[in-house]
Amino acid sequence: MSTVSASGGRAPRVAVVGGGLAGITASIALAETGADVTLLEARPRLGGATCSFSRDGLTVDTGQHIFLGCCSAYRGLLDKLGMTGHVHMQDRFDVTVLAPGGSATSGRTAPRRARLRRTALPGPLHMLPALGRYPFLSVKERASVSRPALAMRFVDPGKPAVDEQRFGDWLAAHGQTERARRALWDLFSVSALNIAGDDASLALAAVVVKTGLLGKNNAADIGVPALPLGELHGDAGATLLGKLGARVSLGAKVTAIEPAEGGGFTVRLGPEADEELAVDAVVLAVPHEKAAPLMPPGALPEPTVAAWAGLDASPIVNVHVIYDRPVMDLPFVAAVDSPVQWVFDRTKISGMDRPGHQYLAISLSAADEYADTPVAKLQEQFVPALAELFPAARDAGVAEFFVTRERRATFRQAPGSGALRPKAATRQPGLVLAGAWTDTGWPDTMEGAVRSGLTAAVELRRTVLSSTATIGERQ
Ligand SMILES: Cc1cc2nc3c(=O)[nH]c(=O)nc-3n(C[C@H](O)[C@H](O)[C@H](O)COP(=O)(O)OP(=O)(O)OC[C@H]3O[C@@H](n4cnc5c(N)ncnc54)[C@H](O)[C@@H]3O)c2cc1C
Repeated sequence: MSTVSASGGRAPRVAVVGGGLAGITASIALAETGADVTLLEARPRLGGATCSFSRDGLTVDTGQHIFLGCCSAYRGLLDKLGMTGHVHMQDRFDVTVLAPGGSATSGRTAPRRARLRRTALPGPLHMLPALGRYPFLSVKERASVSRPALAMRFVDPGKPAVDEQRFGDWLAAHGQTERARRALWDLFSVSALNIAGDDASLALAAVVVKTGLLGKNNAADIGVPALPLGELHGDAGATLLGKLGARVSLGAKVTAIEPAEGGGFTVRLGPEADEELAVDAVVLAVPHEKAAPLMPPGALPEPTVAAWAGLDASPIVNVHVIYDRPVMDLPFVAAVDSPVQWVFDRTKISGMDRPGHQYLAISLSAADEYADTPVAKLQEQFVPALAELFPAARDAGVAEFFVTRERRATFRQAPGSGALRPKAATRQPGLVLAGAWTDTGWPDTMEGAVRSGLTAAVELRRTVLSSTATIGERQ
């Protein structure tokens, strides 16, 4: 077992377990400050939940990802990766919302349409004009929208009692009808929190509303990747880590993390646990259900680790449809009164080489009801649903239809989940946790993952790495 000895004077060795955004971020931050980093990722690629694969000449993301202007840590990572120029950031929050069943012209029913575009006014005034015109609510419902928006200012997401409440109950108590919750609040809370709007933890919903709606007026401006996620995060992460001198081990599944006598850890790898790595510190950046069995005994109280199972998981399903002609003329739209939630034009980003065709992906959050639905059934439901929203789709041929399902896309961001999320630090010196599921204060998002990676690196530098570095520097 290797430890930092007084005669060593070498850089402290750190194993980062898990190559999602949390692990990539922690690895970069630690390598930048001189640690000798090995990033161990079980799969054959980096990127974790943000990944891409090839299918018949298309590059497909397993799930469409977006981010907001307020995602400062994630945007910082993009900067570091040299990828800021490969995302499209709106100059103003601007979402077109469609609903089936508008007026009929020449025998065709056009969808009903709304545009939620912010003004240049400071938040929350920036959204009020658009909300005041939002046609899917009654005049009374529109007038009542500012009530919860303003009351949210006084909701402290850090309070356990807030974490225990359902967002839907709180909205109802602040005058939001069932219709207002479904046609307005769900639009954003379901995709941000990956749980049916009423069922979300008020604390996590408060983070989204307070940051996105009540923060700076550009906080909710939407960013959309312009490159497949595999390139944007995984490939770019591997390149930067290589430049920083960190090792990236792919196909390296960690099976045990054992504290060593005299400090440091033995990290065991491989199906037979026959490979091992001796390190001074470990960042455990895997999903909670994978982290629990890897925790060394006593690193945290057993009930704490057992309770992580309560974070559970919530699925996201993406429905991919390739039409033989263009049917949607915007980069993305949201829908209400439809099973469709958000639709993205993926024609260009997928590298599709089928002239005149258009590739749309429907992103379905909180997709429990679709996680096991056969593809044929989803096609029966979603092709007509798209035709209701996009008149051009009614005459178009469907050249291809397929589905991607991420059954454990995020943890279940339900009331009480906040109490189950651990801090980065453990009782075992040198072992820290990272991952979007840890206690970042943020929902399970790319921003949360990056924040957790930064926090883990800071925690190690504050504790064991500062002392190991000092020993080394004295030599
Ligand atoms: C379909 C989908 C859509 C989403 N949409 C959005 C969105 O629009 N915006 C947004 O901000 N967020 C979105 N998210 C959430 C976001 O992707 C996650 O919050 C974030 O990527 C999690 O990063 P992470 O590093 O914490 O975990 P992961 O990405 O899960 O990374 C953990 C890594 O650990 C590895 N691992 C596990 N066990 C071991 C082991 N024993 N040894 C070595 N490695 C191991 C895994 O293979 C994985 O690569 C979405 C997620 C999904 C699935």
